[in-house]
Amino acid sequence: MKDSYDVVIAGGGPAGSTAAIVLARAGFRVCVLEKDRHPRFHIGESILPRTMLLLRQLGLEQAVLELTHVTKLGAEFGFGNDHRTRKFSFADGLVPGSSVFNIERSKFDKLLLDKAREAGAEVFEGRPVKGVTRLQENAVEVETAEGPVSGRLLLDASGHGTVVGRALKLRRNFEDPELQKVAYFQHFENVERPPGNESGHPAIFMCDEGWFWVIGLSETKTSVGFVTRPSFAKSLNVSPSRLLQWAVSRCPVVRHRMRDATGPAENLVLADFSYRCRPYAGPGYFMIGDAACFLDPIFSNGVTLAMMGSAHTAELAAAMLRGETSARSARARHVRYIERGTRPFWRLIRAYYKHSFRELFVHGTGPLQMPGAIISVLAGQVFPQQPWKLRWRHAAFDFCVWLQQYHALSPRRSPFHLVNEEPHELPLITGLAGSVMSPAQKPSAAAAQ
Ligand SMILES: Cc1cc2nc3c(=O)[nH]c(=O)nc-3n(C[C@H](O)[C@H](O)[C@H](O)COP(=O)(O)OP(=O)(O)OC[C@H]3O[C@@H](n4cnc5c(N)ncnc54)[C@H](O)[C@@H]3O)c2cc1C
Repeated sequence: MKDSYDVVIAGGGPAGSTAAIVLARAGFRVCVLEKDRHPRFHIGESILPRTMLLLRQLGLEQAVLELTHVTKLGAEFGFGNDHRTRKFSFADGLVPGSSVFNIERSKFDKLLLDKAREAGAEVFEGRPVKGVTRLQENAVEVETAEGPVSGRLLLDASGHGTVVGRALKLRRNFEDPELQKVAYFQHFENVERPPGNESGHPAIFMCDEGWFWVIGLSETKTSVGFVTRPSFAKSLNVSPSRLLQWAVSRCPVVRHRMRDATGPAENLVLADFSYRCRPYAGPGYFMIGDAACFLDPIFSNGVTLAMMGSAHTAELAAAMLRGETSARSARARHVRYIERGTRPFWRLIRAYYKHSFRELFVHGTGPLQMPGAIISVLAGQVFPQQPWKLRWRHAAFDFCVWLQQYHALSPRRSPFHLVNEEPHELPLITGLAGSVMSPAQKPSAAAAQ
């Protein structure tokens, strides 16, 4: 380890690795401090099409596609009690989207971190940042178990660890209880998927209590999760590690797709959703990826936002360290990029929790190319900002969601409540045998109950 670096990066997930690749290739002395050792389990397995262009620009597309993955050409949405779902293709977007992939994050994240090392970054795994001891313009220092590490700039890419956010007490949860969530998830074998081009579509099945995801990760492996409100989970007398089973057994569509599935009876749990740490940059630091803010994961935007944002911030940081731009201007541009990139998703997420949105969305048609515009937002075509042709249609769509509450623009659908359903256990989901996530890979976030 050197005495001092140009850039110290806390966290070696997609945000930290992307920034390290860009900065190390630009000739800066970069140090990445990662708490875990890769490969390690991480949730967030479905990627948005906009990421492909970035991977291509970074020269990483081929290497990523050589990893086991499932090609993703669109997505599927539906109600948990109705087998007629809406499937859409990114090719139908107003800004046509490319194909992308679903992938196990352990493999994807390891590849990115290895590429950061290859680019010249010094990567230290199993080395958590314990604290921030200095945070000034051009002089930063963090504490690790092996001693202090100093540099000119700190990039906080520690995800939910929010190293700088916690040190400066900037982390705020959203007050809207609808945005506080807990997720229960596991990997299974032999979950049914749609045939052909649609087999890689991540599927979202909605219910009044929350939503399920079903995401193919390889020919046979599928990630299944249930996201709900912590208050609802607490109201059930069910162990958190059995809550996915509780929910699947009451959801006709997911249960049907999992009728021949095998896998562990126990699920993993992740709480702690939807926060931000403003300001996203200050003297000596930039926050990138989830370390800056975390949005409800319903539309699978986390990795795309993390990688797009960190590549942009790395360019700004490089210009700043070379003296080509002022720190003040770099910070302002960083903040603007995050705000503009996240805004369209926030709007969709808030709308998603209204039943009228679901009625319109599942119906899937509409005038003025509104569906095509929404598909493009869902593909991540919002950088550096949502283009005008998407923006006004998105606003028109918001208006339709509001109007649908009072006047049926698309057919009415009754909400579907899990609690009203008779449970039917899945015959093959019985024991822990065959678990694809070993205890060492388990998420560190605490269970919500
Ligand atoms: C239930 C759920 C489902 C999701 N589904 C999707 C999805 O389908 N698609 C999608 O794109 N996104 C999804 N996401 C979001 C996605 O997981 C994140 O947005 C993404 O991982 C952000 O990348 P990051 O690099 O910012 O953070 P992370 O990937 O979390 O990486 C942060 C890294 O920092 C390390 N770290 C933490 N603390 C410290 C410390 N003190 N010192 C050093 N290192 C530290 C961690 O070990 C980790 O490796 C989902 C999230 C949740 C909760």
